[in-house]
Amino acid sequence: KLHSGLVATEGGGSINTAAHPGPIVKLDQVYKSFGANQVLKGVSFEVAKGEMIAIIGASGSGKSTALRCIDRLEVIDQGSIEVCGIRVDSPTVDLKQLRLEVGIVFQSYNLFPHLTVEENILLALRHVKKLPRAEAHQVALRVLEQVGLQEKAAAYPEQLSGGQQQRVAIARSLAMSPKVMLFDEVTSALDPQLTGEVLRVMEDLAAGGMTMLLVTHEMAFAKRVADRIIYMHQGKVWEVGAGEMLDAPKTPELKAFLDNGL
Ligand code: ADP
Ligand code: MG
Repeated sequence: KLHSGLVATEGGGSINTAAHPGPIVKLDQVYKSFGANQVLKGVSFEVAKGEMIAIIGASGSGKSTALRCIDRLEVIDQGSIEVCGIRVDSPTVDLKQLRLEVGIVFQSYNLFPHLTVEENILLALRHVKKLPRAEAHQVALRVLEQVGLQEKAAAYPEQLSGGQQQRVAIARSLAMSPKVMLFDEVTSALDPQLTGEVLRVMEDLAAGGMTMLLVTHEMAFAKRVADRIIYMHQGKVWEVGAGEMLDAPKTPELKAFLDNGL
């Protein structure tokens, strides 16, 4: 039994997240300030099981903060955030379990340079999930295959391209069997060709039914692959819609954002 589900220590024991019928992620009127700077001003949205949602918006609009609050890398001031029906803004939530359930990948890959690709992936499997070596090895091979890098298991990060390193970071996150994956501008540091290979991995994941929430500047990708797009502006969800909303923005803010880029 690998998965006990997300456990809230308050109000009675563990919950079988696999059986949770509602949205995988739910933000309701989330507020977050850094000092006097109010960054999230009543953000609400839901991510359904198997859904892939892209968040777009200008730099500073609060996209990363929203993602970080879901994984409790930031603590919100007001509102609520649920993952599989569990309040993750509760001070009693099991953070270790939460971070098994919610995978997050950033622009910087943060692989350990002195460890091979496989060892990077094994680390959390062995020490956090406590899997026996043989079992962890099987999982590592499976996730490396998912990102198309099985033959790089014994390589060191510096021997890989930026795109390959980012794919290893995605594989490392996938190895935890998360309920949802959060991606924060994972291709922003890559040149166009390497961007393409990482986008392809994310598209495969989406096609495989992974629940995903990603912040991206890749508008064509968002339009083609995302089930819904959320446009954030000045700390608020300004527009939400299917890909076509990029062809016919309803608000002058989204129109200006699309016309002028960032
Ligand atoms: P985006 O990802 O849309 O570019 P962010 O969520 O990173 O926006 O940032 C929104 C605002 O919050 C910015 O003004 C940024 O300076 C501020 N901010 C983000 N993180 C912190 C932090 N840890 N401390 C102080 N200010 C922060
Ligand atoms: Mg950001």
